[in-house]
Amino acid sequence: MSADKVLRRAMLTAPKEINFDEITLEAPAADEVLVKISACAICTWEKRAYTGADQRFYPLLGGHEISGVVEAIGESAGYGLEVGDRVSVSGLTRCGKCYSCRRGRDNRCDNTWQAGGMKKGDPIGPGGLATYKMAKAYQVFKVADDADLVEVSLTEPLACVIRSIKKSQVEVGDYVAIAGGGVMGILHLILAKRRGATVILFEPDEGRRKFALEIGADHVIDPTEVDIAESVMEITDKRGAQAFFDAVGKVPILESGINALGKGGRLHVYARVYPKGEPISIDPNLFHDKEIVLSGTMSQNREDYLQAAEMISRKAIDLSPIISATFPLDQLTEAFEASTKLENYRIVVTM
Ligand SMILES: [Zn+2]
Ligand SMILES: [Zn+2]
Repeated sequence: MSADKVLRRAMLTAPKEINFDEITLEAPAADEVLVKISACAICTWEKRAYTGADQRFYPLLGGHEISGVVEAIGESAGYGLEVGDRVSVSGLTRCGKCYSCRRGRDNRCDNTWQAGGMKKGDPIGPGGLATYKMAKAYQVFKVADDADLVEVSLTEPLACVIRSIKKSQVEVGDYVAIAGGGVMGILHLILAKRRGATVILFEPDEGRRKFALEIGADHVIDPTEVDIAESVMEITDKRGAQAFFDAVGKVPILESGINALGKGGRLHVYARVYPKGEPISIDPNLFHDKEIVLSGTMSQNREDYLQAAEMISRKAIDLSPIISATFPLDQLTEAFEASTKLENYRIVVTM
């Protein structure tokens, strides 16, 4: 490649403050692939950094839901890849060598930051809100030539929910309860329906409840009006749900979720719970008497990511209903503002 490509990137530097800078790119190292970014969706992490709810990472090179086109390939990075291929890029870096990676939990790699090749003092982050992404070859997943690159940018959230659904072992004929009708709740709804479950979704916002019904929820309920556990018991003929997903991250929801479970039911902590460290109370006899299971997931491993990329690539799933709007990179502030609005699902930045 010509040596003078300039990467323009956005950095979150303080609440509601975005700076852009430019760096000159070198040719990819042997194990790297340079991707010209087409689209990057805004997720909760970046949103919290933008609003100031999470101020730990300034200056943050946000943007981990990335799609694009291969621009250049390092000499040992090209397994099945060619310049011009459409790709999904996983923002998560994994060392592949640590105990977690070797035990199949590369989503929880022990060296994830170091594996990203970041040096002390560098701004951190996956850097998808930019014109290019220099990725390690293992982060790059080829998709079909006619794949919609805006939809492909949603590979990462889909992969996270694939992991969640797999771990919770949702089966045909299950009752599945989901707390939260945002992007993550809706993705759980779509995949649980695909697995043959009947879905009960709890969401306080009327517009979001209506949307969940359109997407295929069997029951939508306002949790501020009724008791979550009682309504699940009523719908399930007092048997309880086989799985309950918390896509909100609140202790009272988790405690209701426990009481909404039937025998062998699984309570899945999908969303991070704030404030951190707050305990949930649970009668331990429920593990014994009802054989319930508590579980949770974070991020996705490379198998989950590949499965998500293939689903989108083959159009086995339609994610267009949850893409509320696209904004060009120059209107990043407008994009972030839109992402904080309750009526919007994913906001995608296009380059
Ligand atoms: Zn995400
Ligand atoms: Zn590792």
